[in-house]
Amino acid sequence: MPQEKKEEMERSFDAIVLGLGAMGSAATYQLASRGASVLGIDQLKPPHELGSTHGDTRITRIACGEGPEYSPFAKRSHEIWRDIESRTGRDLLTQNGLLVISGKGQRAAGHENPEFLRTTVAAADQAKIRYEILDGKTIRERFPVFNVNDDDEAYFDKVSGFVRPESCVEAQLQLAATSGAMLRFYEKVLKFEPDGDGVQVTTGVSTYRAKKLIITAGPWINQVLGLDRQFSITRQVLYWFGLKNQHQYPEFLPERLPVYIWQLPAPQSIYGFPLIGHPEQGVKIATEQYVDATTPDTVRRSVFPDEITRMFRTYVGPFFPGLDETCVKTKVCLYTCVKNARFIIDRHPDMKNVIIASPCSGHGFKHSAAVGETLAQMALGQSHLDVSKFSFSGVI
Ligand SMILES: Cc1cc2nc3c(=O)[nH]c(=O)nc-3n(C[C@H](O)[C@H](O)[C@H](O)COP(=O)(O)OP(=O)(O)OC[C@H]3O[C@@H](n4cnc5c(N)ncnc54)[C@H](O)[C@@H]3O)c2cc1C
Repeated sequence: MPQEKKEEMERSFDAIVLGLGAMGSAATYQLASRGASVLGIDQLKPPHELGSTHGDTRITRIACGEGPEYSPFAKRSHEIWRDIESRTGRDLLTQNGLLVISGKGQRAAGHENPEFLRTTVAAADQAKIRYEILDGKTIRERFPVFNVNDDDEAYFDKVSGFVRPESCVEAQLQLAATSGAMLRFYEKVLKFEPDGDGVQVTTGVSTYRAKKLIITAGPWINQVLGLDRQFSITRQVLYWFGLKNQHQYPEFLPERLPVYIWQLPAPQSIYGFPLIGHPEQGVKIATEQYVDATTPDTVRRSVFPDEITRMFRTYVGPFFPGLDETCVKTKVCLYTCVKNARFIIDRHPDMKNVIIASPCSGHGFKHSAAVGETLAQMALGQSHLDVSKFSFSGVI
């Protein structure tokens, strides 16, 4: 074969995946495991700390207060992660349960939904998840780390828990490469354009061609798409607070403490995790904000001491008597949001060979393995989970 033809073939693929974070690593793995020729490209080397997929843990729930249409993705993701665990020997998914706590009076919304507890219960009923409703006294008895009121109440199930995002990305990229995917790191996609019945992708290094392009650029999506319609990128801070008494650490272990989302009587709700690792590594708690928009290039990556003090005094100290003001670690991370915390999984409005997935809005990781599978199936013309509720129309 002439050298020129060989090089052209080496740069031609069934699919190219732009961005190899949570969604892109999953899509690349799923494409490669189906025997498709696939090129995965990232401007960095995932997992990294500049996008949306870092910070040790992510909550996973099948009963989603954001709406019952999300449940099939979380459910399927659990199956995929268990399968990946058995293939790689990694520890990805811990099902230590979930509490969604709310109560009387004015409560903070969960993912922009003031009725988050009620819609979680409705989604559990629809997905046939077994759960209990606990009153305040029972919550305190079973989970003594929480300082809840008597008239608070909580949804509690045992199928939820947390996933380890960095390990999931690493595992899927490893399996993708083993199945023949070509992975290019530190290579930035500069543009993409129609090319006959396919797409041409130009990076800072080369030009490639594919039948389909999947764009999973996370918080860089506005720059990559250059559309008039803008996603809202917001800065989020993760905090790890120390324990007051180290001997109390068993109460914070995953065997005793589920993940939780708490609609506080405060401006924002909080969510958090059990103790992962040594007691001196602290427990992770966070709030979320949808107001201050930013970009991945301009966001402030440092966390000021007064932010930590405010976080502890407003959202941690009054509600967790066992936690200390000492903050042992912080991380800044980015949400990529559209109205009502929806997902977008759709074809490009002007280029039908380009599939866009920005399923973040702050709750995308738990669905990412199945979103990757769905993207692969869409690209290969196979049947897939229902994405009709995740279209561009009317959302941005
Ligand atoms: C603080 C925080 C807490 C969260 N908590 C939860 C939770 O508890 N549960 C949950 O389910 N979800 C949660 N999420 C949401 C979830 O983590 C995200 O939905 C998910 O990680 C987003 O993955 P992604 O693949 O879209 O983006 P990313 O993982 O950021 O990947 C995008 C990739 O695209 C690459 N890229 C961008 N532009 C280019 C280019 N031009 N050329 C080449 N490469 C490019 C980037 O380098 C990057 O690696 C949270 C998010 C944050 C920020």
